[in-house]
Amino acid sequence: MLRVDIITIFPDYFSEVFDYGIIRRACAAGLVSIQPHDLRSWTSDKHHVVDDRPFGGGDGMVLKPEPIFAAVESLAGARRRENIAATKRVVLLSPQGKRLTQSIASDFAKSEQLILICGRYEGVDERVADALVTDEISIGDYVLSGGEPAALVVVDATVRLIPGALGSETSVTTESFSEASNGSLDYPHYTRPPEFEGMRVPEVLLTGHHGEIARWRRDAAEEKTKRNRPDLLKKE
Ligand code: SAM
Repeated sequence: MLRVDIITIFPDYFSEVFDYGIIRRACAAGLVSIQPHDLRSWTSDKHHVVDDRPFGGGDGMVLKPEPIFAAVESLAGARRRENIAATKRVVLLSPQGKRLTQSIASDFAKSEQLILICGRYEGVDERVADALVTDEISIGDYVLSGGEPAALVVVDATVRLIPGALGSETSVTTESFSEASNGSLDYPHYTRPPEFEGMRVPEVLLTGHHGEIARWRRDAAEEKTKRNRPDLLKKE
């Protein structure tokens, strides 16, 4: 069972998002448990302050280190990266992190505990990245207003890779970025009707010739990868 703890100043953000499809089923099957936590519950002052002005000046506020270190200590049993068990990952969501990939998500799916720290405002005191987290992860080259949507993306990408989470409706072995597809994109999919507003499904898919269909899919996947993600083809 993978335990996911999300540290956020907006725990209610997650109140329904995990109640659908694969994630809901994985929770019900006991493959994963997901718990949002209010960062303010690890403050000790009367007003539950979690942010402060940046040293050196500049706009905005920065999330303070103390409540975040306290939260990770209570959830993971350690307050320094080197003392965190190898089966646990402490992830800071940040546009300055490594870009999330299928391979990173697959790694996360093998862990016992995933602690996700959601930033807000100008970000999180850098000592969290320096000394506490095992992974600083970005979901793409754009800036969100908070780490919550990024945490949701990480949880979704990870949970569907837990063995048994997908059932038979889809297979992780043949989809985009998988080893079987050589790290490139999935082939195009079609369903009924065979003709829609003058657009016909490629004839080969209607023939029942498995060999030819497999060849067409390989070529179509390569063509789509060249068109949309040539960077994937340059990889070793
Ligand atoms: N000042 C930061 C910068 O320019 O890199 C941006 C901070 S952003 C407004 C606030 C929070 O949103 C971040 O601390 C992070 O948790 C989250 N966030 C924003 N963009 C993200 C991304 N691409 N991936 C993951 N988290 C992101």
